[in-house]
Amino acid sequence: MNIELILDKISSFIGEELPFGDRISLKKRNPFLILVATMLSARTRDETTEIVAEKLFKKISKPEDILKFSKEELSSMIKPVGFYRVKAENLIKTSKLLIEKYGGKVPKSFDELIKLPGVGRKTANLVQILSFGIDTICVDTHVHRISNRIGFVKTKTPEQTESALKQKIPEKWWKRINTMFVVYGKKICLPIGPKCEECIVKDFCKHRKNRSKVKKQKSL
Ligand code: SF4
Repeated sequence: MNIELILDKISSFIGEELPFGDRISLKKRNPFLILVATMLSARTRDETTEIVAEKLFKKISKPEDILKFSKEELSSMIKPVGFYRVKAENLIKTSKLLIEKYGGKVPKSFDELIKLPGVGRKTANLVQILSFGIDTICVDTHVHRISNRIGFVKTKTPEQTESALKQKIPEKWWKRINTMFVVYGKKICLPIGPKCEECIVKDFCKHRKNRSKVKKQKSL
C-alpha cells in the first residue's frame, strides 16, 4: 500500500480547510487557550465548542483568569458543551496545577500534560502539535476510524492506532494527519454511511474492497 500517495491525495483534497482546534491555534497562539479549547471540545461538536470558546476567551487568557470564577459560574459559561460540569471542574483543577507546578505555563512534555486533570492522550498530543509544533500523532475518532478503514492499521483502540501509525507513517505526516482526517471524516468518510463513491482514495481502501466483495457474493 502506497501510504504517501494516499496521504498526498487526501491532503490535496482538504487543501487549506482546518478543523476548530487548528483555527484556534492560528488565531490565538496561546498554549493555555489551546489547552482550554481542546479540553472543551471533547465529545462536543466543533460548531458548539467554537461559540463557547470564543465567548470564554473574551474573559480569560491565563490560568489565573479561570480561578476568578466559581465552578458553578464556569459551568454555566461553558454549558452548551458536553459534560460541562466535569469540564468546569477540570479547568479549575488544571489551572491551579499550572500555577502551582508550572509557573502558570502549559508544559511541553507529554508525560506532564497527561497528568493534568481532564487531559488524556488525545488532548495531550493535540496540545503538543498545536501549541509547540512537536511531531506526534493525535488519534481521535476520525483518525482511528479512517486509518482502519483504509487499511493503514488494524487496531481496536485509538491508543493502539497511535503506536501503529507511528510505525507506518513517515514523520513528516504525523502532525497533519489529525487535521486531514478530521476534515475528511466529516465530509467524505463519515462514521455512518461513508461516501465511498465520491472518495478520492477509494481505489486503495480496504473497507470498500471488502464491501464490494460482499455485494458480489450476495448477487451470485
Ligand atoms: S472508500 Fe469509503 S471507507 Fe474508504 S476511505 Fe473512502 S469514504 Fe472511507
